[in-house]
Amino acid sequence: MLDHPGPTENQLHAWDRDHFFHPSTHMAQHARGETPNRIVTGGEGVYIVDRDGRRSLDAFGGLYCVNVGYGRKSIADAIADQAHQLAYYHAYAGHGSEPSIELAKMVIDRAPKGMSRVFFGLSGSDANETNIKLIRYINNVLGRPEKKKIISRWRGYHGSGLMTGSLTGLAGFHNLFDLPMGNILHTEAPYYFRRADRSLSEEQFSDFCAARLEEMILAEGPETVAAFVGEPLLGTGGIVPPPAGYWPKIQAVLKKYDILLVVDEVITGFGRLGTMFGSDFYGLEPDLITIAKGLTSAYAPLSGVIVSEKVWKILVEGSDTFGPIGHGWTYSSHPLCAAAGVANLKLIDELDLLANVRDVGPYFRDALADALADHPLVGEVRGEGLLAAVELVRDKDDRVFFDPPNKVSVRVAAAMLERGVIARAMPQGDIIGFAPPLCLTRAEADIVVGATKQAVEAVAATL
Ligand code: PMP
Repeated sequence: MLDHPGPTENQLHAWDRDHFFHPSTHMAQHARGETPNRIVTGGEGVYIVDRDGRRSLDAFGGLYCVNVGYGRKSIADAIADQAHQLAYYHAYAGHGSEPSIELAKMVIDRAPKGMSRVFFGLSGSDANETNIKLIRYINNVLGRPEKKKIISRWRGYHGSGLMTGSLTGLAGFHNLFDLPMGNILHTEAPYYFRRADRSLSEEQFSDFCAARLEEMILAEGPETVAAFVGEPLLGTGGIVPPPAGYWPKIQAVLKKYDILLVVDEVITGFGRLGTMFGSDFYGLEPDLITIAKGLTSAYAPLSGVIVSEKVWKILVEGSDTFGPIGHGWTYSSHPLCAAAGVANLKLIDELDLLANVRDVGPYFRDALADALADHPLVGEVRGEGLLAAVELVRDKDDRVFFDPPNKVSVRVAAAMLERGVIARAMPQGDIIGFAPPLCLTRAEADIVVGATKQAVEAVAATL
């Protein structure tokens, strides 16, 4: 085993089953050896390689996060150089490190207009936790302690902590954890394909969503509703672009009742839609923005909250009245992660990845639609930028969905993997999701489309 010094193959598999508590995994099946136990050892560009030497085109970019692709030496070098120079110092009470300051400047330079400061964390979940605390803090500073409720959407995904899992609008993250908690409410998902009233046009469905939101605000009392949290485009809830007119109508309601807009850009930040932020793409005017994933392309864990000038002024007022803010993590703006972020954002510019998304994104989605939209099991092919989804249905004309135990999308994803391509069977419904690295080429897009078509046909033949 010269190639792999250390534990043997068998030991690794046994230790994994016996000792590793995997996230989002069926624990009993894993312990019994019924789920995959893939040990990934390397990656380059859009490909990963495992210990068995199998190479797969990762059309989900890890978990929508490896935006610049795998194996980027400049980021690895930046982390190593920083580790040699200074692996850690904290950022409390005005301290910091060179890369954390440089990264803050780079993020604000790229952020939508009106944004002012960045607070760094480590995960998308903790960044949304920061948002929730800021929403409470702001309203306490402003002397309106009753204005604290937060509205998010069914099918939104904002993390899996107690409060952030509450913001998330997916039952699988609530059940058995006694969530949601803490004055968090959920409104209609802007999911046009699954709208109840099929006679509605997209614009009419957007009117309906905005009306539902306004009804909820009025029923709760606008003086009690502090913020609305949403992803520009629903991600984990099914990769669903908003229907035409959705965001302007929602923003109008929020403005009317003085409700903050928190835009969760954990997936859409740093180029996924071909613009630096999804807020730019949809013309959003956020008060707070959540960032993570694409900030470092997952070369190191780093997240952040971008605070608007308007919110920043209130925070400043708060500290003048109440002293230093009682919020922070040991690893806020960790120098190794910040160094990864600086190198990553430079690489996004150098490789002109936003332009690549604007070119390969539509090419990929059109090819996917050409290959699959007419298939009897395909209800919808949708997406934006380099995010796409294929939604599978049992009956296309009547829009009847498969029963979950059929695991149709899980089987399609498995059939794709056999053909060398990783896509994600999304957790809610039979949806195959795509979020490849932003460096995907047209030729690689063709490979993904070919494998998807073959896999859908292979699974359809068994139904
Ligand atoms: N917000 C969004 C939009 C996400 O997609 C995710 C993760 N998929 C999160 C928040 C949570 O991020 P993390 O898993 O890093 O806590």
